Amino acid sequence: MKYKYVIVGAGLAGITIAERIATQLHEQVLIIEKRDHIAGNIYDEYNEDGILVQMYGPHTFHTNDKEVFDFVCQYCDWHEYQHRVLSYVNGNFVPMPISLETINQLYNMNLSEDEMDAFIESRKVKIEEIKTSEDVVLSQGGHDIYEKFFKYFTIKQWGVDPSQLDKSVISRIPFRKNRDTRYFTDKYQGNPKGGFTEMCRKMLNHPEIHVLLNTDYKDVIDGIDYDTMVYTGPIDYYFDYKFGRLKYRSIKFIFETHNCESYQPVASTRWPMDYDYTRITEFKKMTGQKNEKTTILKEIPCDGDEPFYTFPTVEWKELAEKYRSEASKEKNVIFLGRLAEYKYYDMDDVIRRALDVFEEIRK
Ligand code: FAD
Repeated sequence: MKYKYVIVGAGLAGITIAERIATQLHEQVLIIEKRDHIAGNIYDEYNEDGILVQMYGPHTFHTNDKEVFDFVCQYCDWHEYQHRVLSYVNGNFVPMPISLETINQLYNMNLSEDEMDAFIESRKVKIEEIKTSEDVVLSQGGHDIYEKFFKYFTIKQWGVDPSQLDKSVISRIPFRKNRDTRYFTDKYQGNPKGGFTEMCRKMLNHPEIHVLLNTDYKDVIDGIDYDTMVYTGPIDYYFDYKFGRLKYRSIKFIFETHNCESYQPVASTRWPMDYDYTRITEFKKMTGQKNEKTTILKEIPCDGDEPFYTFPTVEWKELAEKYRSEASKEKNVIFLGRLAEYKYYDMDDVIRRALDVFEEIRK
């Protein structure tokens, strides 16, 4: 069969572009996906206790982009939810990102917004030339904040001491001088009522869209007749790793179901100093589900085959640039999404990018 468009990868990038091509151009689209499910890393499913869990780590949708929000609203109703994160420091939970509330709770004080400025000023370390991520935090928050919130967390997250990481990795530490303890401040925040996979399924529910699961595109592509490929898989794999493999940080996921209604005070807790894990997520608190049990997810960052986070250092950015330069020479192939562009995208950013790429295609 002839398809005008073949899309590699049924993640949010591939699904968004497929939806646009089918609904706006009325062309046939084939999506080839190597996993046994759609939705890529935003895949969620109900576990044996009936709790909706996100299998590749916790996701909350948030955006200020009205067009992106309107786009996804066609395919789901929203459970309105404001994400709140507590960081476990010195045996207590304090709000994250750092705000006036965090500072007051951490040091048992009652500073006003104006007094917070003076307090932070008195803690900063003077550093002549800021080169590393350690320098960034010390120069903005001082030793105690660096140690309690950033040093060990960064070592767990990236396997590298912040003094070895370029300043661009932590370019700024957010200090909120007010009492706003929400994690995101975007205008639109929440999660799809039926979950992200259900939302993706609805986006794909169109007679022009065909999905082939359990298939690596390289195994079938020679037998498919198409004009344009939109590639959302790893860019180094596309080029058979000819310049070497790009580095990613992987995550070990540990799911636990507990016989209690509530496990922790908020949906997400961060563990910068204690234990191997960096985060614990309690899904019900994000989705608003009611259940007498609760399922949590502990995340332990590690080296591994499954790519999660692009590696934020100059060395890997340079290698990615080499691949991108090759990609720009490919005829009839568009590289789109976090793996194909070797770039971290939030969900709204990846939808925005797919909508923009679609406008290029349409032209
Ligand atoms: P993917 O979802 O990875 O899709 C790519 C697809 O291509 C995959 O399904 C893959 O199996 C397939 N593929 C790869 N190779 C091949 C091949 N050879 N043949 C066929 N198919 C192939 N964003 C937010 O906005 N809010 C959050 O709270 C948030 N939390 C996150 C938490 C974690 C732990 C991580 C890692 C990311 C988070 N994100 C969050 C970002 C979000 O996951 C991404 O924006 C989104 O998944 C990007 O979609 P994508 O289509 O580019 O990539």
